[in-house]
Amino acid sequence: MTEPTTQPEPGATSAVVVGGGIAGVSVAAELAGAGIEVTLVEAEDVLAHHTTGRSAAMYMPGYGNAVVRALTAASAADYEAMGVEAGTAILTPRTTVWVGGPEDLAALDALASGNDALRVAPVDEVLDLAAVLRPERVGGGLVDDAGSDIDVGLLHQTYVRRLTHAGGTIERSARVDAIGRAGGRWRVAAGERTWEADLLVDAAGAWADEVAALAGVAPVGLAPLRRTLFTSPVPDDVVPGPMVVDVLDRWYFRVDPGIALVSPADETPSPPCDARPEPIDIARALDAVNEVTTLGLRSVRNSWAGLRTFAPDRSPVAGPDPAVPGFVWSAGQGGYGIQMGPALARAAAALALGRPLPADVHLTPDQLSPTRFR
Ligand SMILES: Cc1cc2nc3c(=O)[nH]c(=O)nc-3n(C[C@H](O)[C@H](O)[C@H](O)COP(=O)(O)OP(=O)(O)OC[C@H]3O[C@@H](n4cnc5c(N)ncnc54)[C@H](O)[C@@H]3O)c2cc1C
Repeated sequence: MTEPTTQPEPGATSAVVVGGGIAGVSVAAELAGAGIEVTLVEAEDVLAHHTTGRSAAMYMPGYGNAVVRALTAASAADYEAMGVEAGTAILTPRTTVWVGGPEDLAALDALASGNDALRVAPVDEVLDLAAVLRPERVGGGLVDDAGSDIDVGLLHQTYVRRLTHAGGTIERSARVDAIGRAGGRWRVAAGERTWEADLLVDAAGAWADEVAALAGVAPVGLAPLRRTLFTSPVPDDVVPGPMVVDVLDRWYFRVDPGIALVSPADETPSPPCDARPEPIDIARALDAVNEVTTLGLRSVRNSWAGLRTFAPDRSPVAGPDPAVPGFVWSAGQGGYGIQMGPALARAAAALALGRPLPADVHLTPDQLSPTRFR
């Protein structure tokens, strides 16, 4: 083991980033843009195969704790800039409505408390926005006017393009299985292939604690929780609408022409794996959404699941691990890794290079550091 230090690796010129989901490609692109020689190593033969490719693709500034909301708000300008760069917008506005039944008013108050992104909406407005809700099931609502759909594929590709344009390389089908130190640098191996670098960035999603363990770094206690999504046909005359989220997080849905996207908002603990949906979770969501709406959902067209991986306080873990020089975390993105991804990547890269947090990220490094769990 190496000597403990509270400083990031000084004078780093190279980095290996483990993981090709949104966390990995975004921090890799930021580091490459800062002049670091970056190699991104991904276990699968395609990038974004795991959680990043399975999200609901929503940007909801009122979602998550205060740290998550700060990062989500700070990402808005990145989305704008990347849309210009890509020639087409990455965010498409879609209001989010948090709904509670008459018995859930205290939960609505709790969610609204200290949350500037949400405004209290009268029942009539909630029903205007989401006409499929059964009026007797609505006691109140909160509206997030800045909610949007995210073009996750375009976002991910934009980072890949930035990374490769800045000289970074991507190694696919390369599951990192050994990590050591040689001559003050990291030596990262995937089978017979090896890479060396000053910085090692752990952006391995559900596997991030396992990758840390390979490097001799103490875990932060990440918990992968399975979440299910499915689509269900709806009649053509059902008007597309907002993202509608149960205030107690028991279901959510949104309607597009002819199809509803639905989730039971499940959080089932799971080991890191290629997550699959369970029929019981789908059945539960069909029941719950049919109970509060007139959608009359009957069949399932597609279903999938992914692992939302949380640190114990549900904030991300980003930046250098003070116990191990050159080891950088970008993990614990939970259910917000897309929406807060751009600002989190800028924050993680800045901290990795020993720089202050970007001025628009209104947080302290401690709020992101792994030391909060030790
Ligand atoms: C159903 C669902 C809905 C969601 N909806 C939203 C939403 O609307 N908005 C939002 O912001 N977020 C949402 N999320 C959360 C979001 O998808 C995640 O926070 C985000 O994708 C996490 O990205 P990641 O890069 O950390 O993980 P991943 O995308 O899982 O990437 C990690 C990568 O690391 C690789 N890897 C692991 N171990 C190794 C190794 N040893 N060697 C090499 N590579 C390795 C994996 O193969 C994987 O590709 C949702 C998640 C789910 C499951």
